[in-house]
Amino acid sequence: MPTTAALIVAAGRGSRFGGALPKQYLRLAGVPVLRRAVLAFLGHPRIDRICVVIHPDDRALCAQALAGLDLAPPVAGGPSRQDSVRLGLESLADQPSDHVLIHDAARPLVDGAVIGRVIDALADTPAAIAAVPVTDTLKRADDASGGLVTATVARDGLWRAQTPQGFHFQPLLDAHRALAGEALTDDAAVAERAGMAVTIVPGSEDNMKLTTEADFDRAERLLAATAETRTGSGFDVHRFGEGDHVMLCGVMVPHAAGLEGHSDADVALHALTDALLGTIAEGDIGVHFPPSDPRWRGAASRLFVRHAADLVRAAGGTIVHVDLTIICERPRLGAHRDAMRDAVATMLAIDRARVSIKATTTERLGFTGRGEGIAAQAIATVRLAGSAPSQD
Ligand code: MG
Repeated sequence: MPTTAALIVAAGRGSRFGGALPKQYLRLAGVPVLRRAVLAFLGHPRIDRICVVIHPDDRALCAQALAGLDLAPPVAGGPSRQDSVRLGLESLADQPSDHVLIHDAARPLVDGAVIGRVIDALADTPAAIAAVPVTDTLKRADDASGGLVTATVARDGLWRAQTPQGFHFQPLLDAHRALAGEALTDDAAVAERAGMAVTIVPGSEDNMKLTTEADFDRAERLLAATAETRTGSGFDVHRFGEGDHVMLCGVMVPHAAGLEGHSDADVALHALTDALLGTIAEGDIGVHFPPSDPRWRGAASRLFVRHAADLVRAAGGTIVHVDLTIICERPRLGAHRDAMRDAVATMLAIDRARVSIKATTTERLGFTGRGEGIAAQAIATVRLAGSAPSQD
């Protein structure tokens, strides 16, 4: 099997919509555009290595956008897109892959099928690009004609080139080196100039380049149309021990005993953390906050909840609702319920109408009935915009 690297080009500074942020760092349905583009390749089973090329001034923005992903540090690009691609290729040249796919970060909705078609074509051709046929009738009109149509242009055989564009690595690097400084609009043009045969494979109309605000709106609508609802559940138990209060949902509740645990033993928030992690299949609280790590000794459990909520949001999720049930005979919790709802709503940054907290006993049955500890269960409902970008 030939190896394939992906070069994600994110060095442009165009903000275009009057904002200060380059567009690849804007959030699209909650997730930065660059992160969506990277995840499309990171999650693709046939991509072995990823290189992100950025503007040297954007390191902090990039680190924020790609936080938590298993990636090599980004490469600094050059003054033009062509320079940036060449510098990215040079950075891969020490351990060259057989093939390289070059993709614009401004096309965050590329799907695995398009990526796969480009990779497939490289078995038979040194260069392959995703493209879609021109279907609209083409007219020529310019300032000289005062905006009037001067001609109808035949569209037969015309294609709109997209990315990814795939190449055999070494010939493309050679072509970029030889043609450095020439203004060519895409990498296929570089390959064509170098005499490489370029094959077209079907792209996708959804694989659009985000250029205008209208493009952003369309992309948001596309992602909303494929949004899905996820439900996660969590369960936890802590045993009573020494103490004069318990922490439940971040609220101190006076009691004749405390709860044993490595952190503040807030059993309800531990269940909630697991429920949130469950919505994005991110393991459990022990994976993120190992009990063996001294940093979490006595820690306020709202830190765990906030971390899980941040992960949900980084995956494009919106927390719709959480429902907690605390199970114990004592202490009585009714008087604390409002404070608990407020505390949870604050730590999740959601409206308190989206936070439900219930308490029940087990009719004196079992360990909770015998007053040996407190159990809690939680259900979290999250709406994920678009097919959830995932690192799996
Ligand atoms: Mg626990």
